[in-house]
Amino acid sequence: MAATRDYYDTLGVERGSSEADIKRAYRKLALKYHPDRNKDDPSADGKFKEVSEAYEVLSDTEKRRVYDQYGHDGLKGRGFGTSGVDPMDIFESIFGGRAGGGGGGIFEQFFGGGGGGRTAARQGSHLRISVRISLAEAFSGVERTIGLKRNESCTTCRGSGARKGTTPERCARCAGRGRVGVQQAFFMMQTTCPDCRGAGEVVRDPCPDCRGRGSVPAKRDITIKVPAGVHDGSQLRLSGEGEPGDQGGPRGDLFCVIEVDDHELFERDGDDLLCEVPISFAQAALGADIEVPTLSGRAELSIPSGSQSGKVFRLSGKGMPSVYGHGKGNLHVRIQIETPRKLDARQRELLEEFAEIENKAVGTRRKSFFEKVRDLFE
Ligand SMILES: [Zn+2]
Ligand SMILES: [Zn+2]
Repeated sequence: MAATRDYYDTLGVERGSSEADIKRAYRKLALKYHPDRNKDDPSADGKFKEVSEAYEVLSDTEKRRVYDQYGHDGLKGRGFGTSGVDPMDIFESIFGGRAGGGGGGIFEQFFGGGGGGRTAARQGSHLRISVRISLAEAFSGVERTIGLKRNESCTTCRGSGARKGTTPERCARCAGRGRVGVQQAFFMMQTTCPDCRGAGEVVRDPCPDCRGRGSVPAKRDITIKVPAGVHDGSQLRLSGEGEPGDQGGPRGDLFCVIEVDDHELFERDGDDLLCEVPISFAQAALGADIEVPTLSGRAELSIPSGSQSGKVFRLSGKGMPSVYGHGKGNLHVRIQIETPRKLDARQRELLEEFAEIENKAVGTRRKSFFEKVRDLFE
């Protein structure tokens, strides 16, 4: 495959274009390059695929964000391979569902194709849920099983909507084709049959369990795999886990918005973590090897002698994993020197002795500080 073109260039839109602009650009180009319309032009198929791929990425908020930030490589790293997406599926999701086995489709309505088949196969609605996880779970990745309320195909009538023992009848108006012809100016346009709404069939005696709908509300356990490194507010898409489609159309998708809880010890900044660790005055003055917490257990940190309160040490690779597979962030440890609140007699004695010596030899930083104070007031 040739070097992948910029998706915005492919669709001929600006980087900041709205969703509506992107969709409009896609519609125009997809119709232009659709293989059924370009049987004599072998290059159209490649262009059609290119346009579909660009639209597939730019129409998805999450993918578009990754693409804007990291380009094609970012999408690959994130596991957003686009090669597996059927351009025809994208086309049909925009122009209407794929016909339920009949080979028709909304496309024919645009170009006046012949042939039979039903046209009203429509994808079901998308569902949206939010999933709350801890920072530790975001670190390692986690699986969550959610009891999801959605519609399931009615088992009594097997989704047909007709009372058990009966079957839906062929629609008289459209003779089961699901479409009827409508004269429009000089053209005969095909449109969805108003009697059966494209199903080609009508239910005379509805199934009492689903009242003829063919589906019933149900609770379904869905397992959601949350990838390691996920960010608060990220959205995962589970294809085909939304509401069932109409007339044999595919299910909608399920969107899971991930909410990552704040952590008691760690503050997150992208893939980096920040943690404050208290150390004693003596440790800071003399230097010490201390244990610091990480999300994968404890780690050791050497504090050099003379370390000041607020100093930040970096533990490389001890932060969050990149959700795009780009290694790991760092852990920043900020030390806070604690002043002892209670002193026993011996500690007091030693500190007093220390203070006495210190008064005779004021530290260089304090010396310059006091010089500045003197300059200020004199
Ligand atoms: Zn039923
Ligand atoms: Zn009909």
